[in-house]
Amino acid sequence: TIFNLGSINWDHCYQVSHFVRPGETLSAKSYNLNLGGKGANQSVAASKAGASIKHIGAVAKGDAAIEVLQQLGVDTSGIEQQTERVTGHAIIQIDSDAENAIVLHSGANGALNWQWVQQQLSQGQPGDWLLMQNETNLLEQSARFARQQGMQVAFNPAPMDKAITLKLLPQLDLLIVNQVELQDLSEENELEAAIETIQRQSSVNLLITLGSQGALYVSADQRQQVKAFRVDATDTTAAGDTFIGYFLARRCVSDNLGEALQQASAAAALCVTKAGAIASIPDAEQVRTFLET
Ligand code: ADP
Repeated sequence: TIFNLGSINWDHCYQVSHFVRPGETLSAKSYNLNLGGKGANQSVAASKAGASIKHIGAVAKGDAAIEVLQQLGVDTSGIEQQTERVTGHAIIQIDSDAENAIVLHSGANGALNWQWVQQQLSQGQPGDWLLMQNETNLLEQSARFARQQGMQVAFNPAPMDKAITLKLLPQLDLLIVNQVELQDLSEENELEAAIETIQRQSSVNLLITLGSQGALYVSADQRQQVKAFRVDATDTTAAGDTFIGYFLARRCVSDNLGEALQQASAAAALCVTKAGAIASIPDAEQVRTFLET
């Protein structure tokens, strides 16, 4: 089982002629509402990959996000319904040049309650994983507690906070970063120098996603690379989340690192061919078909 301690967000997207100016009231040309948050995206990806996935997080009482995630196969019993908080959300303006301007409110994502989280994690066992991103509170306590349960811990420091990530490193088995996050963390622009810098500080295993260049897994004694599949990229939203969900889902059931990377790369390639976040995450059947053709 993967326990994913992560954010759940509603993204309110407004098409506008221009970004709203101080004092202005602006009518949107159109509106759509999407469920997102890196946490929710990664839970859905792991679920679609076939993993047993329990999401740990929080939303406002009665929020429809719970039902949406449940229908996508995620165990939602670890999502606390808070009466004093709103669900995390973003107000996204998209102008005629497709630029965006975003107001984000973390809401319940930033107010996770330790007693609740600890109760969920106490169900963890050796062989289970705790997955986390940097969009909630309680990261360090959760990692420590999960390790006491014999679980392995994976962290995707997105958005990157160097201080938080360095402090967490000793509690981690796997650190998953994209190129920008790796550069920000290591303060090195060159890939090999960046890897060396992290390895000097910690023995954590590294999974580095490299966009259209694929991905690289680095541990103390092995290195494995996977190429990105050639596809027509239309929207890379949630590509990283899809990669992570699929990779960890495969790691849970098999020691075959190469196969996990291959599946993750195929799933992420399919994701970039479709618009949207959760809507663009393929299921295991689609990934199998893609790999066969
Ligand atoms: P993030 O989405 O976090 O910025 P990346 O850009 O590294 O992360 O993308 C994650 C993964 O998605 C890559 O490792 C790759 O497998 C896949 N991917 C991203 N862009 C493309 C692309 N243009 N073509 C094929 N696969 C891609």
